[in-house]
Amino acid sequence: MIEKKGIIISSTKYKDYDAIINILFNDSFESVLIRGAYRKNNMNLFLTNKMVYADFELYQGKVNGLKLKSAQVIDSFSNLYNDYDHISIMMLINEIVRKCIIDIDTEKVYNLLLKLLKGLNSGKDVNKSICYFLIQLTKIIGVELMLEGCVDCNSKENLHLLSFEHGGLLCDDHRNLDVDSILLSAKEIAVIKELYIDDYSHFDFLSDLTIKELIIGFIYLIEKSFGLDINSKELINIHS
Ligand SMILES: [Zn+2]
Repeated sequence: MIEKKGIIISSTKYKDYDAIINILFNDSFESVLIRGAYRKNNMNLFLTNKMVYADFELYQGKVNGLKLKSAQVIDSFSNLYNDYDHISIMMLINEIVRKCIIDIDTEKVYNLLLKLLKGLNSGKDVNKSICYFLIQLTKIIGVELMLEGCVDCNSKENLHLLSFEHGGLLCDDHRNLDVDSILLSAKEIAVIKELYIDDYSHFDFLSDLTIKELIIGFIYLIEKSFGLDINSKELINIHS
């Protein structure tokens, strides 16, 4: 018997009533078969919902891999389903995690996702939480922006423009305003560097507009790095 905590990322109907759920554990990402989960009134029906955090008891079946013995919900983050903005944010985060999860450090993503869900569920600021999540996620998946010097010439002077297309800062000699980019002060650049290190405390130095631009930029960075589309970005009406 295997016992561990995990977060449900997706669920697919199998045969008529069975479910195959994909769970992010802190040491792996696994598919688990649940017999009869889609039957009306089945005690495991709640496990077909995304982003449920639960304690799972699993066993290795003779065929078809892991199967569920039982599960106890630890948190279903119900506050995140009360309004459109939170629901669309949950869809966005779920899609990003689902599409980026292959070949990455599952323990880091698990801890980061859990921190995000708990924070949002307890009422933390949505945009700041998402921005922090995306910065940390891109670091985990190895697409960190270059913030130490100009991407083109490595100059440490006159750095005001952050270009997601170019993967970092561009000095005044190399800035190219044609591309999707953000103008930042030296202080704002310093704050972004701190957010990479895991320091939330200076978030207040970023304006709401800058935070929104960063969210859009980091989603673009993920799409570009993985060659995929994050469809639910169209849904998000980033909070004002
Ligand atoms: Zn330059």
